[in-house]
Amino acid sequence: MNSINAEQLRNILIAASKAIVENEPLLTHIDRLTGDGDHGTGMMLGFTAVGKMLLEADPFESIVALLTQVGKVLIDTMGGASGVLFGTLFISGARQLERKNEMSPMDFAYFLSAGTAAIRRRGHAEPGDKTMLDALVPAAEALHRAASAGESFEYCLRQAAECAKQGTEATRQMRARIGRAKAYAEASIGYPDAGATSSAILISALADSLQV
Ligand code: ADP
Ligand code: MG
Repeated sequence: MNSINAEQLRNILIAASKAIVENEPLLTHIDRLTGDGDHGTGMMLGFTAVGKMLLEADPFESIVALLTQVGKVLIDTMGGASGVLFGTLFISGARQLERKNEMSPMDFAYFLSAGTAAIRRRGHAEPGDKTMLDALVPAAEALHRAASAGESFEYCLRQAAECAKQGTEATRQMRARIGRAKAYAEASIGYPDAGATSSAILISALADSLQV
């Protein structure tokens, strides 16, 4: 598959929303260890609302309209630092795309890297600070590499998911420097970051649902 349309994107985002909701206990557990424990609830609220919106909405006029709407729902429903940041990912990432009904792997790479850059600007964190960026930055880079090599959509997303998982694993060794987890600094070592874990679950679920 070399591109996906708005309906396919809607379907894989519905599947990814379900995966986030199913992982609420894990995300709550991780944020309890290194934060204030609300990340699982926030993600569950946000992605329950996204799933409902995607199931009920009329056909989207473009991929940009769909992704922007997802971001708005997240900002309206999630709360917490990560609500604004995941919302920013979708809204700012979508701004990079043309208003069309198809998305190539390279479009997806532009979406993810522009969205990630916007999170960096907004949250003033850098890779290595033990945040969602430690999953998202390597995922966006992997997507660019695979898309530049002309690989299929499935392969590109699979690579992004692998790198997001590895990036999340690598956060175990990091010392938190940003957000609420900062209070745990040394104590956060050994545990993965909550937002990186969510990002990896999201991208893996997109890859899995595209393959079936
Ligand atoms: P809060 O920190 O407000 O309790 P959540 O628990 O929902 O929000 O989300 C925590 C996650 O958000 C962290 O694990 C981290 O990945 C991410 N995060 C928090 N602040 C930032 C930031 N400034 N930049 C990037 N990611 C951040
Ligand atoms: Mg929290």
